[in-house]
Amino acid sequence: TPRLRFAPSPTGFLHIGAFRTALFSWLFARHSGGKFILRIEDTDLARTVEGAVEDFTSGLEWLGMDVDEGPVIGGPYGPYYQVQRKALYQQYASQLIESGHAYRCYCTPERLDEMRKEQIANKLPPRYDRRCRYLTPEERAAHEAAGETWTVRFAMPLEGETIVHDMLHGDMVFKNSDLDDTVILKTNGLAPYHLAHLVDDHLMGITHVLRGEEWISSAPRHVQIYQALGWEPPLFYHVPNVLGKDKKKLSKRRNAPSWSDYKREGYLPEAVFNFLALLGWAYDDQTELFTREELIKAFTLEKIGISSGIYDPEKLLWMNGVYIRKLSLQELVERTLPYMERPEAEGGLPDSIQRPLDLSYTTRVLALEHERLKTLGEASYVVSFFYEKEIDYSLDILIQKKMDAAGTRDALIQARDLLNSLDSWEHTLLEAQLRELVATLGLKAGQLFGTIRTAVSGRTATPPLFEMMEVLGRDVCMQRIDQAIA
Ligand code: GLU
Repeated sequence: TPRLRFAPSPTGFLHIGAFRTALFSWLFARHSGGKFILRIEDTDLARTVEGAVEDFTSGLEWLGMDVDEGPVIGGPYGPYYQVQRKALYQQYASQLIESGHAYRCYCTPERLDEMRKEQIANKLPPRYDRRCRYLTPEERAAHEAAGETWTVRFAMPLEGETIVHDMLHGDMVFKNSDLDDTVILKTNGLAPYHLAHLVDDHLMGITHVLRGEEWISSAPRHVQIYQALGWEPPLFYHVPNVLGKDKKKLSKRRNAPSWSDYKREGYLPEAVFNFLALLGWAYDDQTELFTREELIKAFTLEKIGISSGIYDPEKLLWMNGVYIRKLSLQELVERTLPYMERPEAEGGLPDSIQRPLDLSYTTRVLALEHERLKTLGEASYVVSFFYEKEIDYSLDILIQKKMDAAGTRDALIQARDLLNSLDSWEHTLLEAQLRELVATLGLKAGQLFGTIRTAVSGRTATPPLFEMMEVLGRDVCMQRIDQAIA
């Protein structure tokens, strides 16, 4: 059965592009009845960031990508943290030395630095000069006797070619003379990516490796190491990176949110899931909306494109709106309440509004916005005037096109008197009565309604006026209209 993995390094928080690649692996695992494995590639101790692993696992969980084997749930091929697999890498590094495919390198960081500077100065590609590859047994013994620290380097073939079979790009041919003698074991005994991921992919029975195309240039080195160990490489899929609209690679710093940004802003995970699946994969050239089950059914690896997916935030916003529309009103309320009730500084309603919010009132309020909301987070701003005791706005927004202050005031007084006389506050009645008033006053509907809209909400854009007035209730509306008149 297919086994696929997501192998992030906890060197920072991942942007959404990394989750896209993980999603492809997950979808294919689910599509094929295979397994999805999470492995933490944490051998770069100096760059390890606290909280990163929790961030990955929470992100997977938020997106609904369940893990079959991994650090939290364990599994038959554990441990799933690379630091806990140190002994394995050492074992294979020794095996490679014994078979003549690798050697101990005693060069100091200072020497390597010096060498690199010189190569750059001479416009040569910086590359290890292989000094330790050619040490005599006596020289080697002297280094050992001196108790020097060492790394292990893989002895790449000096001539010939290496072919990387890539399932998306086809066969790629590399000249061996371009391959560096890669470090496969560091002085601290931990393996860098090039050995560690490969040992793990092999021992964990990974069948399909999906990873960013930035790894293509390292792939021939990996192929060489596989051969030296006598192992069959997995199937490689070097997946195109996700690019921003500016055609530049997404980066957390510049233009790429993380899953938690989406969550905070009130994107629905099911919308983000759908959106991510289409970043570099397409079923046909038109279908865009897929449920999770439909994606699992439709997802195949051949349909991953070799041109980059373009990250278009407006498309995500649109898609999120579509998914919000799919919610039942009750679901909408349940899922929006936490956004509204969080502290104002985190994007919630003004702190002056008492929590918890009244459930049935909030249900009526959100019903008015269900057709319009693009994110759940936006609700706090959009509906705050339904909750505020005092609304604060600049009075000149009351005045509509082709009206003046006096005319506006007069219209509001007429509206107040009419509304006061009504014995029901039902929106169809409000509408019928106010439309009559429009005619009596000789105004345009937009003029009168616009003024009333602003008077009761403090806004120029709101849900439909009469429904809104019904939900706000008579007392609030009358008090706010009075306030606008005074
Ligand atoms: N730890 C590597 C990274 O985060 C994984 C690359 C791979 O998928 O093999 O870039």
